[in-house]
Amino acid sequence: MNLNTVTALRQPASAAEIAQWRSGFAWLAGGTWLFSEPQPAIDTLIDLDQLGWPALEASRAGLEISATCRLAELYRFEAPREWIAAPLIRACCNALLASFKIWNAATVGGNICMSLPAGAMISLVTALEGRCTLWPRDGVPREVPAVDFVTGNHMNVLGPGELLRKVHLPASALLKRAAFRQASLTKLGRSAALLIGTSDPARRDMLLTIAAATPRPVQLRFDEIPSGEGLRPAIDARLPADGYFADVHGSAAYKRHLTYHFAEQIRAELARPGARA
Ligand SMILES: Cc1cc2nc3c(=O)[nH]c(=O)nc-3n(C[C@H](O)[C@H](O)[C@H](O)COP(=O)(O)OP(=O)(O)OC[C@H]3O[C@@H](n4cnc5c(N)ncnc54)[C@H](O)[C@@H]3O)c2cc1C
Repeated sequence: MNLNTVTALRQPASAAEIAQWRSGFAWLAGGTWLFSEPQPAIDTLIDLDQLGWPALEASRAGLEISATCRLAELYRFEAPREWIAAPLIRACCNALLASFKIWNAATVGGNICMSLPAGAMISLVTALEGRCTLWPRDGVPREVPAVDFVTGNHMNVLGPGELLRKVHLPASALLKRAAFRQASLTKLGRSAALLIGTSDPARRDMLLTIAAATPRPVQLRFDEIPSGEGLRPAIDARLPADGYFADVHGSAAYKRHLTYHFAEQIRAELARPGARA
């Protein structure tokens, strides 16, 4: 769609060129959401494409995902064999309701900054214990755990003009066993519930991430894989019945039902000795 209030496009070579921020400015990543509906409050787009950030950098410490990494680039990433949680990357890419355009143009950062409950990249980086690097316009860079980045439906911790620069996924999380479950009311539809469990093979703990069913990700950490009887009370203690997100993609009761169902499947899968991601 044409954004007829936009009168300027800036293409900085470095983020520091945008020292002064004012209302009417917006960072432009893939543009797949920005150009999908009218943006009457925006008059200037600031394109991130020229910043030249490398999309993906893998090292012994883990994986750095640049905010400008396209979903298609992330999908093609070939992880080291020992990163047995890495299949989550493709599972989460596939969890998006993605047209050809979104698949090839949308960025990881754009998906996270949109902060939709069904934001599949949010689920991914939260479950893999990511840390977000943020660049404020008028301060020093700061780090925020991915689990704390989204604060509600379409809300996050970014201040005015603050940039999401990258997300670091630690190798310690990528080395864990992982189980993934997702459902939507329609085939290829937006996620009604997306749950991920990870478990350190040595410690046999469990980290359960509940997303899409809730306005923001909810994470439960268990020192050991819980029993079937212990799981539901633990979920209820963190997530009361009115804590689920109701929209056209599913009622709160439906999403709650899926949450219990998938959480138990994930628990049982991770409890099986030797089960693989
Ligand atoms: C019809 C439709 C259906 C969709 N369904 C789903 C779905 O089911 N699941 C899902 O996960 N997503 C869904 N999306 C969201 C889609 O994935 C987003 O369009 C995409 O993730 C946004 O990425 P982008 O790079 O195109 O961002 P843009 O459209 O360029 O930007 C999105 C927003 O993020 C801001 N932004 C972008 N990058 C940064 C950054 N680095 N730092 C700070 N701010 C930034 C922009 O200013 C803008 O406000 C849907 C979108 C559409 C249009």
